[in-house]
Amino acid sequence: MATVTDAKRLVIKIGSALLVDRVTGSLRAEWLGALIEDVVWLRQNGTDVILVSSGSIALGRRVLNLPQSVLTLEQSQAAAAVGQIRLAGAYDAALAAHGLTAAQVLVTLEDSTDRRRYLNSRATLEQLLRLGAVPIVNENDTVATDEIRYGDNDRLAAQVAVTAGADQLILLSDVDGFYSANPAQDPTARRFDVVAAITPEIEAMAGDAVSGLSKGGMKTKLMAAKTATAGGCVMAITQGDVLHPVRALDEGAAATWFLAQGDPQQKRKAWIAAMKPKGRVTVDAGGGACAVGGQQPSCGRGDGGRGPLWPG
Ligand code: GLU
Repeated sequence: MATVTDAKRLVIKIGSALLVDRVTGSLRAEWLGALIEDVVWLRQNGTDVILVSSGSIALGRRVLNLPQSVLTLEQSQAAAAVGQIRLAGAYDAALAAHGLTAAQVLVTLEDSTDRRRYLNSRATLEQLLRLGAVPIVNENDTVATDEIRYGDNDRLAAQVAVTAGADQLILLSDVDGFYSANPAQDPTARRFDVVAAITPEIEAMAGDAVSGLSKGGMKTKLMAAKTATAGGCVMAITQGDVLHPVRALDEGAAATWFLAQGDPQQKRKAWIAAMKPKGRVTVDAGGGACAVGGQQPSCGRGDGGRGPLWPG
């Protein structure tokens, strides 16, 4: 099984519920300080570290006196604009205390679906790591509209891991792994130590539960695992709500490890696999393909498999 110290390049995803106090809406500075000590320790071991951090909406909503109920898209975007400055500032100060430099990277879904922008993001992350900075990535919530947003940082973190060629991704969560059922509701639920392959049975076990501040639930974590493992990256889900959660994982804290696929897809294929599907392609017995994208199905050919499928 993988251990944290094996990682050459590690992406750590930090959920809002860990970073922002649910009651006061303020930043949990002690927890962040301990996390950054883990980052320092990892870097001393020679591991490249990228952080994918949520928290901008949770921090900003309190400042703007927004309601506790579900926010509209516009309210979330406004909260993110206010909260992101504070979030980045907190990381900057916590890293500077150890002589490290924080780099803010804000991305949208389009930055990974457009190949040129994807290659650009990859080059920038590479350059930042080479220069010794610690990239702090979040979705650019202020400009991402519903159709072009990840919406949750689990999948964003997996995409960042694939983009940056990371060999390990850790999702710091409010649960200590992937369970056969929701442990809050089912006393017979058991945690998997290792998931070797994401089968339809495993997928059926992921419920929809989300915690108070985060957008992601087990479903999005499983989708993240699919993306990461297909890209040759091991992924762990572990309890983040302890001081020094990454060291705790290294010392054997409860977790579920999703193993990277034995035959990792090439980078371009991993990039395609991480895309949000816009339609379906049905291939009939004769090899005729029919892409169903929007309202009108558009078919490659209607000749039952006789002519060439796509030009070129
Ligand atoms: N990008 C959102 C934020 O910073 C969080 C999304 C999520 O909770 O996964 O608040």
